[in-house]
Amino acid sequence: MEDCLFCKIIKSEIPSKKVFENDNVYAFHDINPLAKEHYLFIHKSHTKNVNEMSANAEQLSDIFKAISEFTSSNSLLENGYRVVTNVNKHGGQTVFHTHFHVLGGEQLKGFGA
Ligand code: 5GP
Ligand code: ZN
Repeated sequence: MEDCLFCKIIKSEIPSKKVFENDNVYAFHDINPLAKEHYLFIHKSHTKNVNEMSANAEQLSDIFKAISEFTSSNSLLENGYRVVTNVNKHGGQTVFHTHFHVLGGEQLKGFGA
């Protein structure tokens, strides 16, 4: 989608530090990490949030398969990690291309931790 930051990242019009890619999914370092490891997983098809993505449930599957493959290929699965997706104002969404934060690399706080 034109004028979408993350669509531009997928097209390499804006640089990013890639950590994973397949036909459907692209993942890269968050520019402002909130944990020692902080990655963003996005689908190559533009949707604006997880509700819209859920209409194409295959895309959710693509995302979580990618996260699963990635976290199994390094220490994230064994040590533990967190997935977060923010929606609209109260959720704190600032980029309106659906994305899943993958956080780890240290003990995460909140949610009972
Ligand atoms: P949100 O607040 O929408 O859930 O998450 C957007 C995330 O995108 C933020 O964590 C922010 O740091 C990250 N971000 C914003 N602009 C860029 C960018 O140009 N490059 C990268 N790698 N991350 C970005
Ligand atoms: Zn987009």
